[in-house]
This record gives sequence, structure tokens and C-alpha cells, in this order.
Amino acid sequence: MPQSGLPDVSIPRRLSAPAPGWTTTADVIVVGSGIAGLTTALRLRRRVDRVLLVTKTVLDEGSTAWAQGGIAAVMSPEDSPAEHIHDTLVAGVGLCDVDAVRTLVTEGTDAVWDLIALGADFDRGDTGKISLTREGGHHRDRILHAGGDATGREISRALIAALDRVRDDPGIEVIEHALVLDLLTDAEQRVCGVTLHVIGEGQVDGVGAAHARAVVLATGGLGQVYASTTNPSVATGDGMAAALRAGAVLSDLEFVQFHPTVLWLGEGSRGQQPLISEAVRGEGAFLVDEAGERFMLGQHPLADLAPRDVVARAIIARMRETGTDHVYLDCRHLGADFLEHRFPSIVSRCRELGFDPATELLPVAPAQHYASGGVRTDLHGRASLEGLYACGETSCTGVHGANRLASNSLLEGLVFARRIADDLTSRLGAGELPETTPVTADGAPELVRSKRRLDIQRSMTAGAGTVRSATSLAATEQALGDLAARAVTEAADRQGGPQSWETTNLLHVGRALTYAAALREETRGGHVREDFPGRDDDHFLHHVHLRRSDAGLLTAEVVPVPRSNLEGLDLDGSVPLDVLDEDRADGAGSAKPAGRHTNSENGPEETA
Ligand SMILES: Cc1cc2nc3c(=O)[nH]c(=O)nc-3n(C[C@H](O)[C@H](O)[C@H](O)COP(=O)(O)OP(=O)(O)OC[C@H]3O[C@@H](n4cnc5c(N)ncnc54)[C@H](O)[C@@H]3O)c2cc1C
Repeated sequence: MPQSGLPDVSIPRRLSAPAPGWTTTADVIVVGSGIAGLTTALRLRRRVDRVLLVTKTVLDEGSTAWAQGGIAAVMSPEDSPAEHIHDTLVAGVGLCDVDAVRTLVTEGTDAVWDLIALGADFDRGDTGKISLTREGGHHRDRILHAGGDATGREISRALIAALDRVRDDPGIEVIEHALVLDLLTDAEQRVCGVTLHVIGEGQVDGVGAAHARAVVLATGGLGQVYASTTNPSVATGDGMAAALRAGAVLSDLEFVQFHPTVLWLGEGSRGQQPLISEAVRGEGAFLVDEAGERFMLGQHPLADLAPRDVVARAIIARMRETGTDHVYLDCRHLGADFLEHRFPSIVSRCRELGFDPATELLPVAPAQHYASGGVRTDLHGRASLEGLYACGETSCTGVHGANRLASNSLLEGLVFARRIADDLTSRLGAGELPETTPVTADGAPELVRSKRRLDIQRSMTAGAGTVRSATSLAATEQALGDLAARAVTEAADRQGGPQSWETTNLLHVGRALTYAAALREETRGGHVREDFPGRDDDHFLHHVHLRRSDAGLLTAEVVPVPRSNLEGLDLDGSVPLDVLDEDRADGAGSAKPAGRHTNSENGPEETA
């Protein structure tokens, strides 16, 4: 087992919660109602007898509805799967699973056409053709978008409308305000259901147990583990934490994407913060420091449009040099008319918060944005425990490697949801995954009081955030370990509630992430070590697989990646300047202020 330099980390088998007071049964339980969960449930319906879809709050609460930029897919004759695959592999800095990327890209186009057939209405140009735009890291126009900067809202609307059309079907049951706590397993460690807390009426209220032949975790990301994030409040890593407690393998947790331009709302602000899309820089906005200096010039050939990790690191360096906690984004030269037309949601959100991008500098700082790692799965979405599947941001299919290519995440949720539904259909049809009986989870449960949430977020941000070191990670684990020690005692007196269960999930995911980050003594993709500033392919061309041992300790296994993964990739992360050149032959003729980068069809260039 590799050495992290950190003390042993114990992970309990379950959260502290009351014993289930009610029971329900289904063939498959789908947990979460973002693009991953809804697509899985809709495709499974009618193929298996009974699908139970549960979601923590309401159906459209999750990252999916917040996605601004778009969804990537090969949709034009000028593009090709080989190019999308190549761009994805470059972004992943050698750690992508090539078969998973090939699957994503080659099945992505049909999956997007099916989403359109289902009712998703993407922006179109004057000729009626779907507008395709480009983002950092993409060498072709392949980003579909909706409502300018409201792609996720449209996808979520279309999927929920499709669900509403079949809501009366006895083959599918939907329970909102249902927070899944833990996975149920049988004596062979096969997953056979979940425990969940429902704020409901009648029989289904309080903590219960849902039994099933398979469980699909589609619970989204872990952004709330940090003090500031673009992720909504439901992103507390619940699915990853439950899988970890049950003994499933989690992988690549150290690779967290921090978005460079998130509106900075003041020192005390925490939780979900407003994202200022990369597309705003794509249209010509640029970063300046306190003194008004354009500090990205000369740092990278693409300057303000360098890859996200490069821009985020440059901002942090400048903030340290100048002793400030933010820099500024200058959009003023783009003009009010253009900004309002091109970025309606972003402009109105900024104005609601007291900032007018047309007339003043926007304060920005990096914040957590995307978890590239998660519950390790194979190409069918199967996790390491029999009966368990994971999909979307909570999974680690191998598609993202060390860094996600912009707009590949919605596509991943869509493509792998279809694969999971198909795999479950054939396995259940063949009599695989029979019903089994859960056994009582052993060991002392944990519960962290909700008032500790900010302590966890501060420790994670300080020591396991944008820039890490052995010292900072050890300090974070020390603080989290102290909270865990108290958590066992707190669990003895209390049975918890939604806030404290989420806080405990943040603790478990945070400890696992910190552990993985301590093991990777190099800088690669979203993982930045100031004590190991270079990439080290000789020692770290591998995945870190974490799981809870039978003794309740976090254990790590190193899984090598073939060296051939690096062949043919230019891993300096740069995109040739000509791909963003506004004089490109396929550039639009729409009236735009000078200095903006172009796009295709009728104009917009978007980003995730
Ligand atoms: C501001 C922002 C902009 C983005 N822009 C883009 C973009 O342009 N393009 C792109 O590709 N990606 C983008 N992303 C990333 C992308 O939106 C997400 O990765 C993707 O939507 C995740 O989908 P999902 O279905 O896996 O999870 P989510 O959409 O987050 O859904 C998770 C679901 O699980 C539920 N849930 C969570 N825990 C529990 C529990 N314990 N019990 C029951 N239910 C639970 C939640 O309530 C929710 O319904 C963006 C993300 C953000 C935050």
C-alpha cells in the first residue's frame, strides 16, 4: 500500500440515524435527478417492472440546471470523433481511460440527438441549424448551448417534462425530498438497497429502507466540501460518501477543477457563488490586478484564455503577491447591449448582486467547480460492488483523467446513463442481480453536527484547495481527524438530521480527497502541489483507488496507466492560437466588438 505520510484514516460503515420505520421495494433505485439520474430512470422505465427515482429536494435542484456553457458533441462534418477524443485526452493529462473516452465521444452524438428528440431546444442560427461553438481546449466547434448561457436549465426542463409525461405510469415512482443516507448490503457485500430520510406524508415519512436488485448513484458532485464553489447546496458528496462507507472503490478524488473566474462576494461569503463563464473571456474580457495590470499576458500563449488550471494558478499567485483575496475581470469594453444579449443570465445575476459588468470591474477569485474523480466504474457504469452503479459527476468513468475538458460532463452523464440502463435491462432480464437480504451494518456510526460544516470547508479550502503541499494536507487531515474523533461521541447522543448527515458526508469525502492528494507528489491537471511543482510521469502515471477496508480504514491502491496513454499528446495544455483566431474561416459575421474570439453559425461562443 502506498504511503500518504498521513495517519490512518478510519471511515465508519454508516451514518448515525434512526432505524428504518418503513420499507419499500423496487427493481432499481436511481438516486438523483440531474442529467444522469433522469436519463437513467427515463430509459429504464418500461424495460424493468419498477423504477424508484429519489431526489434530495426537488427535481431540478442540482448542478445540471446551473450549467451555463453547453454540452460537447461531434455534430458537424468539419469535426470528427478522433479530434474530440484527442482534445479530451490532452485535457486529462495522460490519465484518461482511452476506451471510456472513445465510448463518450462515439456514442455522444446519438445521445444528444435523442435528447433533442425528447424536447431539449438548443440555440440555432438563422438557417435553423444548431449553433455550435468552441471552448478552451476544444479544437473544433462542438458545443451546443441553449438560451445563450442557460443550457443546463433547458436540459433539466426537457428531462423533467419527459418525466412528467409518464409520472402516472405504475412502473416508475418518484419521491422528492428523499435524502439517501447509506447503501444496504447483503452478507456477500452486494448492494441491495438504500436507507433514506423522506420528508413526506403518511407511510413514507422519516427514515425508511428501500430494497432493490440494483442501485444507481447519480448524486452529483462534492463542491460544498470547500468554502466557496459554483455547485449548488445539494452537492455534498453524499453518493461518494455512501459508496465509500459501503466499501466501493473511489478513484481520482485528488483531481478537483477550480474555476478561475467566480464572482468574489466578500470575505465572509461561502457556499454557492456565481460563475462568470469562460465565454466572457472568450468574447474579449480580461483579467487585471489591483493596479490594473493584465497579468495573464506573457504567462501563456492564450493569455486570459489559457486552460482553467493555468489561469486559476496565475490568479492565486497574483493574489499572494499583492496580498489580496481577489483580482478583477474587465468586461466594460464589450458594452451593455452585447453583454445583455450574449450573457443574459450572468449579467442579470451580477446586477442583482450589485455589480454592473458594463460599467465596473468584476471582482473574481477561483472557486471549486467540478470533481473529476468519484465512484470508480467500468464502461457499463458498474461500480466495484455487485449491484451498485454510479453515473454523472459522482462517478469516475475514466473520461476526465486529471482534468475535465469543458462541457464533457453533461455529455458523460447522458452517455453513461444510457449504458447503465441498457446493462441493467439485460442483466435483470437474464435473472442476474437477484433480490437479497440486507445485513445490519457493523461498527460505530458517525455524526458530525451541522455547526461544524464551516470548519470542514475552511480546512479543505486552506489545505486541500487550489494549491496543496505535504504540510497543508497534513494540517487539513489533523483538523478533520479531530472532528471525526468527536463525531463518534456525538453519534452516541444523537441520531442526526439532513444537515448533520450532509456535514458527515463532507467530512468523509474531504478526508478521502485529502488522503489521495497527499499520495500524489506531483502537479498534474487539477491537482497542484507547491512542493512538487512538476508533472512526474515516471512515478505518478497511475490512478489512486481508495476504499474502506473491512477493518474500517481507508486503503489506497495504485493502478498504473499504460505509458502509451501519453503518445501523440502535446501535454503543455495549450491550444494553438489560430483555433481562437477571430478571422477563422468559419467565424460568424455577427456584429461584435473588436478583440473578441469567434465562434460558429450565429455567433455565441460558450463555456462550461
Ligand atoms: C455553475 C455550473 C456551470 C456548469 N457548466 C457546465 C457546462 O456548461 N457544461 C457541462 O458539461 N458541465 C457544466 N457543469 C458541470 C455539470 O453541470 C455537472 O457536472 C452535471 O450537471 C452533473 O450532473 P449529475 O446528474 O451527475 O448531477 P446533478 O445535476 O448535480 O444532480 C445530482 C442530483 O442528486 C441529488 N442528490 C444529491 N445527494 C442526494 C442524496 N443523498 N439523496 C438523494 N438525492 C441526492 C441532487 O438533489 C440532484 O438531484 C457546470 C456546473 C456548475 C455548478
